[in-house]
Amino acid sequence: KPDPKTIIVSNRLPVKVVRNEEGLDFQPTEGGLATGLGSIYKSGNNVWIGWPGATLESKAEEKTTLEILTSQSMYPVFLTDEDLELYYEGFSNETLWPNFHYFNQYSIFNEDTWESYKQVNQKFADAILSQANKNDTIWVHDYQLLLVPALLRQKKPDLKIGFFLHIPFPSYESFRILPFRREILLGMLGADFLGFHTYDDTRHFLSSVNRLAGIGNNHGIINYNNRQIMADSLPMGIDYDKYHSTASLPETLQKEVEYRTAIGSPKVMLSIDRLDYSKGIPQRVKAFEKFLEQYPEYQQKVSLVMIVVPSRYQVGKYKELKEEIDLLVGRINGCFGRLSWTPVHYFFRSYPLHSLSAFYRIAHVGFVSPLRDGMNLVAKEFIASKLEKKGVLILSEMAGASKELSEAILVNPNNQKQMVEAIKEALEMEEEEQIARLSVMQETLKRYNIYHWVDLFMNRLDHVKNQQLAQK
Ligand code: UDP
Repeated sequence: KPDPKTIIVSNRLPVKVVRNEEGLDFQPTEGGLATGLGSIYKSGNNVWIGWPGATLESKAEEKTTLEILTSQSMYPVFLTDEDLELYYEGFSNETLWPNFHYFNQYSIFNEDTWESYKQVNQKFADAILSQANKNDTIWVHDYQLLLVPALLRQKKPDLKIGFFLHIPFPSYESFRILPFRREILLGMLGADFLGFHTYDDTRHFLSSVNRLAGIGNNHGIINYNNRQIMADSLPMGIDYDKYHSTASLPETLQKEVEYRTAIGSPKVMLSIDRLDYSKGIPQRVKAFEKFLEQYPEYQQKVSLVMIVVPSRYQVGKYKELKEEIDLLVGRINGCFGRLSWTPVHYFFRSYPLHSLSAFYRIAHVGFVSPLRDGMNLVAKEFIASKLEKKGVLILSEMAGASKELSEAILVNPNNQKQMVEAIKEALEMEEEEQIARLSVMQETLKRYNIYHWVDLFMNRLDHVKNQQLAQK
């Protein structure tokens, strides 16, 4: 009998295949998840299953990819261009994403994308089943794979299955709008343990299960088909030490001086997000514009450095958003700018870790104001990078991170007046208070880091499974 192993499953693998002149190249994708789970999937006979980030053009390319990935503890699920269009861009990003972030006016309901979502979830389930033995632990991640837990359960009823949702779970009033709501819930209930970032996400999930599937719960414990299932909140942390130590590396410090000099402005506010309507980017720029208008003494004294990372550009709403941001930034720079001062330094690109760390370091204010966000890791990384403990975080109360970072200046991103006052308060906060607030937040993040999160998840999952066995 082989040793029990853990199988991590997510839409994307922690590497991406890139095609160059010499053939296929495999590059690691650095994300919080890849770091946190890195130690797990590389140990023993554990494996990570997911899409390798590119559509392959021949059986030979698939064979090479399979061989190389298998040698690095990964197993690929190959997706076609049609899968990507319908399952990924379509159902995942044009139906679930807007619905789960309360952007229902953007949600598209379409039978074809739903069919594709079901088929691709089956593809993932088949790949997992081809690798899984009876005593293995399966950990499925995120909204692209909501049906996978039940598909696995049907075939292997005893598997230990965990599921974590990285985006918000919406209130019943939003979730009920989805035509395929019941199938989705039953798909998730294939898991033994379901983790969410916040208490509210968990509560919303339980309420939908109750009202749409008629299945009640007792403090997060659900009994379904004679199986005990647990749902609980487990906010994801960051690799605190990595961000903390990167902030003091020579490369980072060199970049920091370079950026500070180039920007020139006495005070810097920073925002970093993927291009996404959930991030509240136009609202943030408008609040900054209003601030400069209302408090003209701050003109030429403060700049907003705004990094927008290209994302999902194939989806129509994202293209529109990009155009809106371009216009707003153009307007504010055209109106307020001077030869010696640029109000908004706007970059539509991504940066390597050292550069991000340098940006976190030069920022007096981290300005994180999503309209809705499952967690928001940028807020946490900003805090972790502040070695001198000086700096102020303005944080939207609509981000999951606000539940842990209550020493930030919390704002409702729809309340422009409050945002404007928050900017002023942040820029004027005494150093002593900055240090006091940052210290508390750093302690929290240091303690509840990504490794702690992974341990807790695994412990909860084991616990539920043991409870099930005890009941038998
Ligand atoms: N990030 C990155 N490159 C960049 C800008 C950001 O890798 O140029 C990272 C950032 O460090 C953070 C992640 O992207 O870890 C964004 O996570 P967050 O939870 O803030 O938002 P999401 O994009 O997951 O909605």
